[in-house]
Amino acid sequence: MADYDYDLFVIGAGSGGVRAARVSAAYGAKVAIAEEHRVGGTCVIRGCVPKKLLVYGAHFAEDLRDARRFGWDVPADCAFDWVTLRDNVLADVDRLNKAYTATLDNHGVEIVHTRATVTGGNEVTLDDGRTVTARHILIATGARPMVPSCPGNEHGITSNEAFHLDALPHRILIAGAGYIANEFAGIFNAFGSKVTLINRTDVILRGYDESIRDRLLQISMTKGIDFRFNAEFRGIERQDDGSLSVAMTNHDPVVVDCVMFATGRLPNTEGLGLENAGIQVDDKGAIPVDEDSRTTCPSIHAVGDVTNRVQLTPVAIREGQAFADTVFGNKPTRVDYGCIPSAVFSDPPMAGVGMTEGEAKNKLGSVKVYLSDFRPMKNVLANRNERALYKMVCDGDTGRVVGLHMIGPEAPEILQAAAVAVKAGLTKDAFDQTVALHPSMAEELVLMR
Ligand code: NDP
Repeated sequence: MADYDYDLFVIGAGSGGVRAARVSAAYGAKVAIAEEHRVGGTCVIRGCVPKKLLVYGAHFAEDLRDARRFGWDVPADCAFDWVTLRDNVLADVDRLNKAYTATLDNHGVEIVHTRATVTGGNEVTLDDGRTVTARHILIATGARPMVPSCPGNEHGITSNEAFHLDALPHRILIAGAGYIANEFAGIFNAFGSKVTLINRTDVILRGYDESIRDRLLQISMTKGIDFRFNAEFRGIERQDDGSLSVAMTNHDPVVVDCVMFATGRLPNTEGLGLENAGIQVDDKGAIPVDEDSRTTCPSIHAVGDVTNRVQLTPVAIREGQAFADTVFGNKPTRVDYGCIPSAVFSDPPMAGVGMTEGEAKNKLGSVKVYLSDFRPMKNVLANRNERALYKMVCDGDTGRVVGLHMIGPEAPEILQAAAVAVKAGLTKDAFDQTVALHPSMAEELVLMR
């Protein structure tokens, strides 16, 4: 049997790679992991975690206003300091980066702080020129923001840079209308920036239930976010005063201080040397894999965003775990991609699991839909005319809940628990048999008629 330097060499220390590395090491494998940036990857360093902290920070704008209705004496000139929040968030990112590094260290995983490229089915070459061999190679290099090619695009930023801004922009234009665009639109708007969101089509958050995303659009517009649809980017020009003039189809140019691209993410496969192992990427640059995350080269697997299956952290973690269990734990495991809950941390947030109403009608034919359209009691006292909307989509023949979609305060927190019931295949009747927890927003789930 061939002798290798490592049992496993992981390229990329993000959510998927770290999970696979530490679990494989716990099973007794000799593991190394290469990371050219910072251990933790997109989610921890420049994604989910710092974004959620900014969402918390942004929500105080509304909470402080509402607090007055609840009797609190909040000064009128309540000021917000971006630099304080930014630095506290970045400090927390540092803490998590250390925690992830410590987890790898504690499991005996060797961390190689350099770029690694594949130079063979069992061989990796590091930036310092060293070549190492491994019985298995796992590619977990994630994805990066896609910036549309247009004149002046170098003047724009992406979510990567948004966490490091020197100051809040007075006016920001966000290109795209997906997860990142809507989340940052809510954040910047709450901090007082004038936000314009433009998209090439006339929909936001394609793939989410139509009623729920319509509600987000309506609330976002009420909060002052300016939407421009059917607007394809034409270019960005820097003006003499430093501002940026953004040209687009079907609309007049918009002048702003900052342009942020949130137009999807591309798998990080460029220059990875995959051709040296006979692996061909697909038309999106993603690595094709089978149900066991195995590439066309039997000794090389890939997990997470680089495979462009479902670009969500918990999915990458599951894939990393399944890889380790299968390859080193003698427990063949496959990820179940059915009923994956997801959320958009917009303002207000939305969350969903299972089929949208449209998907269910196409797939099942007979569908029964229940709606709860209500004003959360906190919003009533706060004089906030903002309504939540919950939608339950049921199989018309069996009563089984096949989809649950929500927008409103704490929607992601509520949906995570309800997703267990949807995943378990429970019926509307089972929801109805559960006594309401009163007073709560979540009780609407068992009171829909
Ligand atoms: P999304 O795929 O969510 O949205 C991309 C947006 O950009 C869409 O509005 C799309 O338009 C538009 N777009 C796509 N390509 C182009 C192009 N070439 N030119 C102009 N516009 C374009 O991508 P995001 O960047 O927002 O996020 C990437 C992924 O990261 C998400 O899909 C999600 O999986 C993950 N993510 C998850 C989060 C969470 O779980 N809360 C948070 C942030 C990211 P249209 O659809 O109209 O064609």
